[in-house]
Amino acid sequence: MHQARHCAFLDHSCPGAADEPAWDHMPLAAAAYAYLLSRWIAEDAPPGARVPGLHATGGAHGHRNDSPDDWANLATVYETGLFPHIDPDSGTARQALGCRPLDEDELRKSVTAAVLRPWHDQATEPSPRVAALLGELLGLLTEWRSEFRIVEAVDFTDSLPTPGELHVLSATSTDVIRLSVLDPAPDAVRRGGLTPHPGCAFGGHGCAEGHLLSDTELDRAHTALRAMSAGTVLSMHMPVNNNTHISFSVRLAPHGLAAPDATTAAAWLEDSPWNDELADWEVEFNTVFDEDSWRTELADFRTECRETYSMWFDEGILNPDNDADYDAGTDPENDTHDPAPVSPDLLADALLHDLLDAPVARITAATPTGDTPVHAAASMGEYGWFDIEQRVYVALIGPEEAMFLRIDGVA
Ligand SMILES: [Zn+2]
Ligand SMILES: [Zn+2]
Repeated sequence: MHQARHCAFLDHSCPGAADEPAWDHMPLAAAAYAYLLSRWIAEDAPPGARVPGLHATGGAHGHRNDSPDDWANLATVYETGLFPHIDPDSGTARQALGCRPLDEDELRKSVTAAVLRPWHDQATEPSPRVAALLGELLGLLTEWRSEFRIVEAVDFTDSLPTPGELHVLSATSTDVIRLSVLDPAPDAVRRGGLTPHPGCAFGGHGCAEGHLLSDTELDRAHTALRAMSAGTVLSMHMPVNNNTHISFSVRLAPHGLAAPDATTAAAWLEDSPWNDELADWEVEFNTVFDEDSWRTELADFRTECRETYSMWFDEGILNPDNDADYDAGTDPENDTHDPAPVSPDLLADALLHDLLDAPVARITAATPTGDTPVHAAASMGEYGWFDIEQRVYVALIGPEEAMFLRIDGVA
């Protein structure tokens, strides 16, 4: 079933597409955390290690007034589409045979063991960013959630067991999330040199178009998805007030201009569909950055974002278990199954790299200096990057592609 809630996140303009942030939709947020963690595991795993891949999905289960046993059971996982398709891009499907309850501690230990296996196998420690994001994923799966299950499953096609794999459920009275750890991470099935758009099936999206991408388009889609996912993790610790959080949206697209200069790039932006979104909000690109001011503004954005994120993290409001006893190294007292707490600054920097640095580097890579956009413009109000009265938009145009960043901190 198509989930219109996912379309905007995945830069899909499906019929009925909704443009809502992921921070208040736990199944989509879990998919974002799992996706980003998979990419980081693949990049940070020790050389030669077998690399696991994470896939999360979920949805409303419709058993609000029933007993917790009905929130997550064999019938529910099929009703909500959590099985049989685990990773449609690789054709990975599983038949669920049974659900066994487990407590929060068991869930944390099972997921941690499956995710950190590449490092535990070699008796080494995971990278700090993997440890930190795993901690955040475990928080998302357990805080404010009470019913946990482990699913016994076999291969859908031959009914053979799939050892080393993990499928867990985390449910509340309204929704259920499935997290699967496939080991090793299966490759997407390519067709005629093209690869399925990672957004078509992401988090159980269910895009019916079957978009296929060239390698360049695939890289661009992954860069954008990583940015969206990193923005979601940041959002979680960046509340505006009790009702809303700051949210980020990143779009990347080719502009089709041959050798654009600042003038042609600005004209293209003026006519782009992105500009229509600004008009809807009665704002406009009122600020054009030159090379120096662009660097300064970018640095200011990072600082402000990092400080806001770390402040709320340290407040412990969203992390009630967090005792703020951060240590980037290992703590001998710490349970070896649980990663040591990592400083929020370290995680914020890693997330900002994926949210901002990687897409910006992609856009500006082919310029003479390698880091200066052809044209950079923003809609700035009086409160800077995080404005409680209006959305802030930034457009960055490079030699071949353009980036559109939206920061929504409206109270
Ligand atoms: Zn869609
Ligand atoms: Zn699609």
